[in-house]
Amino acid sequence: MHEKLQKMAEEAASRLLEINNLQDLEELRIKYLGKKGALTQVLRGMADLPAEERPRVGRLANEVKKRIEDAITARADELKERQKEERLQREHIDVTLPGDRQNLGHIHPLSQIRREIEDIFLGLGYQVVEGPEVESDYYNFQALNFPKGHPARDMQDTFLINDDLLLRTHTSPVQVRTFEKTAPSVPVKIIAPGKVYRRDDDATHSPMFTQVEGFAVDKRITFADLKGTLAAFARKMFSPETSVRFRPSYFPFTEPSAEVDISCVICSGKGCRVCSHTGWLEILGAGMIHPRVLEVSGYDAEQVSGFAFGMGVERIAMLKYGINDLRLFFDNDMRFLTQF
Ligand SMILES: [Zn+2]
Repeated sequence: MHEKLQKMAEEAASRLLEINNLQDLEELRIKYLGKKGALTQVLRGMADLPAEERPRVGRLANEVKKRIEDAITARADELKERQKEERLQREHIDVTLPGDRQNLGHIHPLSQIRREIEDIFLGLGYQVVEGPEVESDYYNFQALNFPKGHPARDMQDTFLINDDLLLRTHTSPVQVRTFEKTAPSVPVKIIAPGKVYRRDDDATHSPMFTQVEGFAVDKRITFADLKGTLAAFARKMFSPETSVRFRPSYFPFTEPSAEVDISCVICSGKGCRVCSHTGWLEILGAGMIHPRVLEVSGYDAEQVSGFAFGMGVERIAMLKYGINDLRLFFDNDMRFLTQF
């Protein structure tokens, strides 16, 4: 009996060394110390021993039991410690490693320019108003003095939706929509930015582009007011040295009408490739609002007058940033967009 207990203790000790996880350790504990375990079996066998031997064997059995228990507890602590270390190793974060850079979004170059234009005119006392992109023939053409069959309609290749509806070809319909609400009161000073659509697609034309319409109606508004306003705008937008030139032109909804050029932003008027060696760059169309447009919306053209202008935001952005292909604005190529 004595030898059996000693052997059991040694055997348990050597097995313990081979155990590498807590589950196996628990199985080992049950094997020796459980209700049907080896040591329990030995203790039960004590009943068959002579009475004088029992205390000695009992003491030894208790000693062995304690040794095994202690060894198991020690091994369990070791294993738990090791597990903890392994977990730390696995979940270890090296705070000195460089982080992943987040791509932050930012405002599209066209929106930046549009806001800049809006800000300049807000500073001149204008209000920003928007209108629908799907427009009726009446607002896009008829009320702006393009009657049905008018040859000037061909100047704008229109996307038609049905007999009456179309994608607006310019932001000028906002003039009529505004006048219907404001007439006959003055003054009116509005800036109307938005998308417009024409059947065009090449390096300098896109089927969708952004226009900013501006118009003012008041008593005694003259062409000089238009010139002063656009010169002030050009100097703020480009540089204080920018000069402005007006060339006669034709639009059905303004009379007289003009194309407006600014001195070339690249060569300051000396002549270069961008301005085709003229020293000038066309940036917008403008004119005095045609009396018929005022009358159709409820103004008395004998009492009030107004001017209007329309500019392409892409055109201004291209000049300002030196971009030669309009389509870059719509390709959503990050290599392009992140430059702004
Ligand atoms: Zn130039």
